[in-house]
Amino acid sequence: MASSVLHNETREDLTQSTATSRLIALEGKYGAHNYKPLDVVIERGEGVWLYDVEGRRYLDFLAAYSAVNQGHCHPRILAAMQEQAHRVTLTSRAFRNDQLPLFCKELAELAGHEMVLPMNSGAEAVESALKVARKWGYKIKGIPEGKAEIIVCANNFHGRTISIVGFSTEPQYRDGFGPFTPGFKIIPFGDAATLRDAITPNTAAFLFEPIQGEAGVIVPPAGYLADVAAICKQNNVLLMADEIQSGLGRTGKLFACQHENVKPDVVIVGKALAGGFYPVSAVISSQEVLGVLHPGEHGSTFGGNPMACAIARAALRVLIEEKLTERSEEMGKVLMERLQQIRSPHIREIRGKGLWVAIELNGPARPVCEALMQQGLLCKETHDNVVRLAPPLTIEREDLLWACDRIQSVLEHL
Ligand SMILES: *Cc1c(COP(=O)(O)O)cnc(C)c1O
Repeated sequence: MASSVLHNETREDLTQSTATSRLIALEGKYGAHNYKPLDVVIERGEGVWLYDVEGRRYLDFLAAYSAVNQGHCHPRILAAMQEQAHRVTLTSRAFRNDQLPLFCKELAELAGHEMVLPMNSGAEAVESALKVARKWGYKIKGIPEGKAEIIVCANNFHGRTISIVGFSTEPQYRDGFGPFTPGFKIIPFGDAATLRDAITPNTAAFLFEPIQGEAGVIVPPAGYLADVAAICKQNNVLLMADEIQSGLGRTGKLFACQHENVKPDVVIVGKALAGGFYPVSAVISSQEVLGVLHPGEHGSTFGGNPMACAIARAALRVLIEEKLTERSEEMGKVLMERLQQIRSPHIREIRGKGLWVAIELNGPARPVCEALMQQGLLCKETHDNVVRLAPPLTIEREDLLWACDRIQSVLEHL
């Protein structure tokens, strides 16, 4: 009784115009402050649109960092989730479930690989790939025990675990979190010759993003992906592509490495793998590489659960059957062409691939994102001076052009 009274009171308060500020205050008081979100409180999403607690509508130009490539609350993924929720949600890997085998087969085939290791978050999949690479280094390549090295790139983003932030070059991600895991070497991104120089007989793997997302949609020079692939092959080093943000259609190819016809030894996916409904990630590789894992050597309570697998299977079907990769390429061209027409002294560079574009400014990007929010367009700055644009891949040309008009008007009135 008491709780229902409280509930009613809360609801009443929230229907007043103070809903946004009250919820922001609550979050500030009870939630850890590890983010600085825009002050918009979302209560509903549908396709490319988000609605806040005041009933205002926004076009989503971030798509949850590419986790919602299929658009918000996609009806087919929702149906799969509801159907599975009525059957069984979690078995643990102590028993088998009827969704996991199909998920592994479908994802492996989609990536042109042999095996899948299912996990939950992106960082977890990256951690898992690092563990597998080290084990492969010892068991298959013959690296002396404890000596395995993994090469990574400057300005990388692979997640937030201690091992992963330990090889970040962003001071903010590392400060106060040491001591860190040894065994990583950092080279510049986009310069293949530095990879050749960094490799030693103890190098197990090269971990990289084909396009660096959090760094500001940094596209490497043409030929880089093919070059690092060849260098890894020559040196028996695993090429490990973190396609968590760049993969699953975002850049106009199913995987960004396909822009240079590169098939990495290990592909890491997450984010859009479950269309925003559920955290699902995976390491995709060969029998030789994932075969180094034996029962008991690695695991996850939730990894590969039937709910996750059913949702991910539906999310992948939507991606393929709705031709979202092809749409990304086509609409990406429209977006880039339209943005190039904007004349503003504040723009330093516009770059990107597919529906993934960064506008690098001469000054801070946060006020631009805030002004865009006022105009009904949601996007988020990355670092200080980059506005990242990444709408759901389902976006229609008309909505895309509407967004570009808003961006033009904000940049012209800055
Ligand atoms: C988002 C992201 C991750 C981390 O994924 P989480 O699900 O947040 O752990 C790792 N790598 C890349 C490239 C990402 O964009």
